[in-house]
Amino acid sequence: SEKIGRRSETRSHQAFEEAKTVMPGGVNSPVRAFKSVGLTPVYVERGAGSRIYDIDGNEYIDYVGSWGPLIMGHAHPEVVRALQEATAKGTSFGAPTLLETEMAKLVAERVPSIDIVRMVSSGTEATMSAIRLARGYTGRNKIMKFEGSYHGHADSLLIKAGSGVATLGLPDSPGVPEGVASNTIAVPYNDLASVELAFQRFGSEIAGVIVEPVAGNMGVVPPQPGFLEGLRKLTTEHGSLLIFDEVMTGFRVDRHCAQGRFGVTPDLTCLGKVIGGGLPVGAYGGKREIMEQIAPVGPIYQAGTLSGNPLAMTAGYTTLSLLTPEVYDRLEMLSARLEAGFIANAKEKGIPCRINRVGSMVCPFFTEAEVVNYDTAKSSDLDMFRRYFAAMIEEGINIAPSQFEGMFVSGVHTEADIDATIEAHRRALQKL
Ligand code: PMP
Repeated sequence: SEKIGRRSETRSHQAFEEAKTVMPGGVNSPVRAFKSVGLTPVYVERGAGSRIYDIDGNEYIDYVGSWGPLIMGHAHPEVVRALQEATAKGTSFGAPTLLETEMAKLVAERVPSIDIVRMVSSGTEATMSAIRLARGYTGRNKIMKFEGSYHGHADSLLIKAGSGVATLGLPDSPGVPEGVASNTIAVPYNDLASVELAFQRFGSEIAGVIVEPVAGNMGVVPPQPGFLEGLRKLTTEHGSLLIFDEVMTGFRVDRHCAQGRFGVTPDLTCLGKVIGGGLPVGAYGGKREIMEQIAPVGPIYQAGTLSGNPLAMTAGYTTLSLLTPEVYDRLEMLSARLEAGFIANAKEKGIPCRINRVGSMVCPFFTEAEVVNYDTAKSSDLDMFRRYFAAMIEEGINIAPSQFEGMFVSGVHTEADIDATIEAHRRALQKL
């Protein structure tokens, strides 16, 4: 394409300087500030399909997709139309609506582990509520998680976290009380021996194990064969709940989520991103017997003024309705093409590179090591990533400004988009 690329950033730069006077770091979520790559953020003016346009008039092929939700691209006409109709009827009632039941039915139908589901407004709320439920249900306090995984910013889940915490190289966050931190056990991803050891030591105290069934916040790291099955077995043996955090993978890696793809059924599942279709949504669900421990049926409390919000349900329901099996075939085809192109480029330029991909989650790591956990992800050359990122933005390819995040291909990227991206990647590697 002739048009894509960053030709100017004058207005974005001014906008960012002004934003910093009234917002911490100029942003409402840390990684958006481009701090670790030392560049001016892309100030988005609008999006359409696979593209975003910034306030300086630059056009980019987008692989961030609002960090995962936009599996059918920006401003999808059907989502926009449904939202316009819903908006005209009112934006929020705090009372039950029919669409909430339709949405719950659709989610329960597609997600193997979910009998019943509760909607919330973010992924953070989903995981936070799921661990409260696991603790309340089992009467135990400890939670096991994996190093380099990110499950939102609830206190107990910020220990050894990925995503922005990893990108900014932050220590376990100040503000998390020691008593809370001491109830979180963090072990390496894909390491069943460590999980087993932790169970031997603390088994009767562990309420649940929370895991990203494909890790997506230390770059993309697939579960090794047997890992998820091993977690299923160990949690069952020790009376702990297995919680899949599918906020990123849910409806992304498979029409039936990662649990459908890998054939392992957790006790509880957390969802977000795709199920909101670009509006603020999260959800948690699972076995009826467990879920009915939450209020109003049971004593474990969780509520939300905007939970099940009609606009959020509309965007989510419409998006899920668009996700036919053919869309997943297409995502696989496009993503495999992107992966193959990237591998060929790296080989041609002699750049150390390891590409992990599960469906439309794709991550090129600048390392020769096989990336199986947070430690191996950290063996990537982060300085090379910074230069690569700058070159890709210059080329008009919008990717996440961090080695510890993947790329998201959407169902509306075209083969021409993918090929243009591979060409841009080739020129970017040339500059390294
Ligand atoms: N869990 C996972 C696996 C995530 O990737 C994220 C967000 N990237 C969250 C939880 C938190 O979701 P939110 O940002 O909507 O609070």
